[in-house]
Amino acid sequence: MTEDKHRQKMAAKKAVMDAKIAQASEERGILILLKGNGKGKSSSAFGTMLRSVGHGKRCAVIQFIKGRTETGEHLFFKDHPQVDWHVMGHGFTWETQDREQDIAAAQKAWELAKKLLADESYDMLVFDEMSYMFKYGYLDVEPVVEALKQRPPMQNVIITGRTMARPLLDIGDTISVVQEERHAFRLGVKAQAGIEF
Ligand code: ATP
Ligand code: MG
Repeated sequence: MTEDKHRQKMAAKKAVMDAKIAQASEERGILILLKGNGKGKSSSAFGTMLRSVGHGKRCAVIQFIKGRTETGEHLFFKDHPQVDWHVMGHGFTWETQDREQDIAAAQKAWELAKKLLADESYDMLVFDEMSYMFKYGYLDVEPVVEALKQRPPMQNVIITGRTMARPLLDIGDTISVVQEERHAFRLGVKAQAGIEF
């Protein structure tokens, strides 16, 4: 392609982009859903939260399922003045095998989530692995959808989990699917601190 042709093409592209940018003028908080079976959902959520923290925003995290160990992100954020970090689950479901206890923990986490969703002093909420609560029937999705719809207009919310309940997908503003193409675990590599947790 000649220099001229390239310049023309780029100018046309810029015009299209500028028009799109001018059109997106609404200012409000959004609901981000991160789903799929590949690695990168929770780390993307916490990476985005890191951006918000960098801009001085107040954030809260609820971990609906507690992993097997202290995560690097929890160690990093737990004493941060802008971040409230709540670990509500008590263990992997397939490790505890106690449905009653799981439901009680889910309810407690939801009560807290509801409170945060009504508090406009929070700019961003991360509900990590919340989607499992609906998959296993520990929580009803309808009250969650209602609370999300009623939340403060500038509040951003990120929900992660491999599967996402349909009613959440219906109200999500940004939805990304993290698809596994390969994972080191399948190659026999042990989970490591700083990568897996
Ligand atoms: P991450 O926290 O690394 O962003 P994730 O939130 O996308 O991962 P989860 O389904 O929450 O993934 O799984 C949590 C843990 O399992 C993480 O330690 C992650 O590295 C690991 N993991 C994620 N996807 C896979 C996979 N496809 N195979 C094996 N392990 C995985
Ligand atoms: Mg995760």
